[in-house]
Amino acid sequence: MENKSKKLVIITGYFQDESYGLLGPQMAATIINDHSEYQARVVAITNEYDKNDLKKALNTFFGDSPVVVGFSTLGGRTDLFDFAKALKNDGVITFLAGPQAGVDFKGEVGCEKYGHRFKGLSDCFSFAIQGPGQQMLPLLKAGFHSDISRFDGVLVKNEKGHIIEKPSIAWDDEYLAKVDWQNIYRLQKNGFEPFNVDCAQVIAQIGCPHASKDREVIIEYPQILKPKEDLEQKKPSARIHQKGCSFCDVAADKGFKGAVSEDAIKQQLACLPEHPDGTKIAFELINESPLPKLAGIFKLADDISIQLSQVNLTMRADYFLKGLDKLEAALKIAQEKNVRILLASIGFESFEDTILHNLNKGVTRQMNLDTIRAIRDLKPKFPYHFGYLKEEGANHGFIHPTPWDSPKISQQINRTIAMYQLAMDILPNHSTPLIIHHASGLGDWIRQIEIKEDIVFERIGTTIAWWQTEDKTLV
Ligand code: SF4
Repeated sequence: MENKSKKLVIITGYFQDESYGLLGPQMAATIINDHSEYQARVVAITNEYDKNDLKKALNTFFGDSPVVVGFSTLGGRTDLFDFAKALKNDGVITFLAGPQAGVDFKGEVGCEKYGHRFKGLSDCFSFAIQGPGQQMLPLLKAGFHSDISRFDGVLVKNEKGHIIEKPSIAWDDEYLAKVDWQNIYRLQKNGFEPFNVDCAQVIAQIGCPHASKDREVIIEYPQILKPKEDLEQKKPSARIHQKGCSFCDVAADKGFKGAVSEDAIKQQLACLPEHPDGTKIAFELINESPLPKLAGIFKLADDISIQLSQVNLTMRADYFLKGLDKLEAALKIAQEKNVRILLASIGFESFEDTILHNLNKGVTRQMNLDTIRAIRDLKPKFPYHFGYLKEEGANHGFIHPTPWDSPKISQQINRTIAMYQLAMDILPNHSTPLIIHHASGLGDWIRQIEIKEDIVFERIGTTIAWWQTEDKTLV
């Protein structure tokens, strides 16, 4: 692989002092390395990087080969959009992939008509590609100077400035089976250096079942637009159609595409790196409703004679309550096999029903509290093999502030936090402010309000700043 003459780098956003694997980019790089003439490498870039060091490292890596740089999982980082733009202006092929690649390339709906809306990233990237990684293969074979608009999943701007978009192909388990977890590098002063990941991911489900249900949701105006003195007046609202949580990019990007085959999961388990004692490193099971099939993961590991060490779960409170007996059964097996099951993240998001409704979370305050009680009851039964605490590595979802934090709502949340001692073991050290991606359900909500009220909310990169209206007229 190292002596292929054609090369490609996939740059991703990353957090300082961490060593986690990135399934999407690393799986795409594996597909490219296994099935094309290119040598692909994933490079993790933290907020603290030096642009000149990155340019130098790219020049050293590419040498005399043409420079091709993909960007994926950027987390809305405008510094990386600017970096991509500078490369593109220097004649480099840059492309955007990963979640929301298509909508971020195209820009916000109606951006041609409304000047303040996000214009998209077609100035920063030569093209975008959305959907499964194997769609890159025919494109790499044909070359970037061919007509790339004909390839599946590709979005590209034509000579007239219009964006041409080809739908992506379906997900195929054959390409979801293998990941080279060693192929990830950090930027250092002297170039790209490989590092070992201490937590990987295994994909068992594509998208989220909650994102398969279409609902009409009536969402109140943000607090900054409500009359302060007249608390009794009927609160103005906007109506959206929503699949999944109204803030969620998984819901908007993937919807729900169902389960990955057991064979593909087995092969992914086999690919996980090992600790010196021969056990596999911890991994996050990507499955929003993991409990019904959790015990089956141990069976798959037995089939290929590997020993797991830790399975991290991310899920909703209602799926936790529904699958509690299955979790208990899986914990008994985990105890026998000395494997830890960590509830890495339960998406509680709030402890107040108005906010949960506006987020279209599909759970209530009471369900969240019932879940916490059940988790706390379970811990003493499996003290070493069941984790859910911050100190054990968990980071549960708590979205705050939100646009709807009235004094009354804030008081209710604080009372619940105190009464159920949530700060002790459930709340993360830092809450996550509500982020409205332009293509999420809440993006539709805020655009309706802008039109009805003839106001403008500021855009910051790919997001809409719900806390701040600009002093501008709408059109
Ligand atoms: S936030 Fe979680 S539960 Fe909600 S739609 Fe997204 S993935 Fe599903």
